[in-house]
Amino acid sequence: MSRIVMKFGGTSVADLSRIRYSARHIQREVNHGHSVAVVVSAMSGVTNQLVDWCQEASPMHDAREYDAVVSTGEQVSAGLLAIILQDMGISARSFSGWQIPIKTSDVHGAARILDVDNELLLERLDEGHVCVVTGFQGISSAGRVTTLGRGGSDTSAVALAASVDAARCDIYTDVDGVYTTDPRIAPKAQRLSRISFEEMLEMASLGAKVLQTRSVELAMAKGVRLVVRSSFDDPDAAQVAPDGSNSGVPGTLVCDEDEILEKQIVSGVTLAKGEAKITLRSVKDRPGVAAAVFGALAEEQIVVDMIVQNVSDDGRQTDITFTVPDGEFDRAMKAITQDEERFEYDSIIGAKGSAKISVIGVGMRSHAGVASSMFKALAEKGINIQLITTSEIKTSVLIDEAYAELAVRSLHIYYGLDKADD
Ligand code: ADP
Ligand code: ASP
Ligand code: MG
Repeated sequence: MSRIVMKFGGTSVADLSRIRYSARHIQREVNHGHSVAVVVSAMSGVTNQLVDWCQEASPMHDAREYDAVVSTGEQVSAGLLAIILQDMGISARSFSGWQIPIKTSDVHGAARILDVDNELLLERLDEGHVCVVTGFQGISSAGRVTTLGRGGSDTSAVALAASVDAARCDIYTDVDGVYTTDPRIAPKAQRLSRISFEEMLEMASLGAKVLQTRSVELAMAKGVRLVVRSSFDDPDAAQVAPDGSNSGVPGTLVCDEDEILEKQIVSGVTLAKGEAKITLRSVKDRPGVAAAVFGALAEEQIVVDMIVQNVSDDGRQTDITFTVPDGEFDRAMKAITQDEERFEYDSIIGAKGSAKISVIGVGMRSHAGVASSMFKALAEKGINIQLITTSEIKTSVLIDEAYAELAVRSLHIYYGLDKADD
């Protein structure tokens, strides 16, 4: 009897009827003889409401109490799902993160899973119970409840799958797989039957919120077979695997690159809105200046994304531009403008409202010209590029947020991603 982990996101447990529908997917797997651990998110909208309440209660709230509040949404959906499973004649019980326990670091609001104590879970699974575990949360060494960052239930699911040596970790959501771009932006986006861990990692970290970045990292490190599929699909329909065989499940399989026969040059296009750009003008061009600037931001726990430094004309002064999330803009400006003599720049300019558009594909390693064709496609639409960064399998540009959707749709068509390939 193989173990599997099934994760249901917010829209899949949005109300009692959706929970009942998701429960039928679980019933099918139980009937197939699988031993099932389930991870649930909060009902859709609940976490946002809880976050807003903390903010309203006090903008400078204690991060430990924030976690105490925002972790509660998952407890409700886990309990309700267990009740519904029991009502269907399936033996089930719910667990909160601390009851497993899922041990995490103490970075409240963005904790990392350090260890999953699987003893109790394995015992209950082996006794034939469906174990419904709250996603998104754990417990710190100080005994406080922690949360893993928005979208963190994906990571909880992968961590549990690795811990109980599950044959598969199925991520049930409101789309039936990973698409070439967000199908809400480009309705002609195509579902990928397989995607490599590396491409998925880039897509997630560059804005495709279908999987939390950390969950992909963890699945890659631990060799967890990850499948993204829809809870809205008929639970009783024939199960067809992403590779077309009928021995598995529909959806997208996230797997090692060598399991993918036909490698695309470009597999996907992503969009991340809400980027703020800050430029330091006429910075002294000598060792230690960049270290001082980015050191000051790191001290404030501000995550910097793109960084560009110009070559200086005279070897004395240069410009440095970097991006931070819109929400961190004010703090970043403060960090760089207080004691500004330390940083030795002439002036500083910054603005919110940019978007990062990226094209991703393992084929870029061996094919030239992807970046230049990206720039050409954007130029044809009159879209100005503010910053560019590249890595082995992706090229990203920063543009005005107003053109973000147009850029994604144009690039998607330009690379032929709107045509079915499977
Ligand atoms: P859940 O609540 O189930 O965790 P999320 O809202 O976090 O679901 O993620 C699913 C959403 O991710 C989809 O509704 C879709 O709009 C969005 N998304 C963004 N990029 C992609 C992509 N490349 N493929 C599929 N979905 C994507
Ligand atoms: N409920 C949490 C959130 O909305 C975690 C998750 O859904 O993955 O971010
Ligand atoms: Mg999610």
